[in-house]
Amino acid sequence: MTPLVIAIDGPAGAGKSTIAKALARSMGIGYLDTGAMYRGVTFEVLRRGLEATDVEAVARVAREVVLEQGMDSLRVNGEDATAAIRTPAVDAAVSHVAANSAVREELRERQRKWIAEHGGGVVEGRDIGSVVFPDATLKVYLVASPLVRAKRRVAQHGGNVEEIARAITERDQRDSSRDDSPLRQMPDAVVVDTGDRTIEDVVKHISSLVRATRDSS
Ligand code: C5P
Repeated sequence: MTPLVIAIDGPAGAGKSTIAKALARSMGIGYLDTGAMYRGVTFEVLRRGLEATDVEAVARVAREVVLEQGMDSLRVNGEDATAAIRTPAVDAAVSHVAANSAVREELRERQRKWIAEHGGGVVEGRDIGSVVFPDATLKVYLVASPLVRAKRRVAQHGGNVEEIARAITERDQRDSSRDDSPLRQMPDAVVVDTGDRTIEDVVKHISSLVRATRDSS
């Protein structure tokens, strides 16, 4: 039987983590944050004093690094990096690391292995419905206006709304324009605007879509 995979893609701050986690909890299935994996590699790259644009060195880090993900945590080579992967320095470097094809290949393999081992789950990222799991049970593409997304980041991590909005726009631009697995909305993805809806409402909506998809297959 093919495993149940719910792909949640979308730009930064669209609500992917919050929604994906709540959905996984409500369905009693696993949750994988692939952005945290790219952040974990970036954290290790910066910790070693490497340049995020050094293709060979960064690829080596991606192949070597041990990433252990919990529902709300990430350990990088055994060290708790949950907070450290969310700093502005990682924010600024991560999309350069994510444009590296060798890094993507390595993490894509780990993501597919994770689903095989867990028998399915909710997976959030940028290329989940397009590249990692093109046959996902359900593909959701979350959106929200740039201002809403910046305000959410500020509420979670602090900072200045205008600066954060600028940083988010730059990261989205890099994520959407890279050659390998760019962020894009798939034609078979359901688009959900999280701007004016509660978390509960969005989770209920996606759960009903999952049920409808399962019933019809
Ligand atoms: O989701 P989050 O904002 O934590 O992702 C951090 C970065 O990781 C993104 O801006 C993107 O560069 C990269 N990423 C990616 N592909 C994924 C998930 C994240 O390229 N599937």
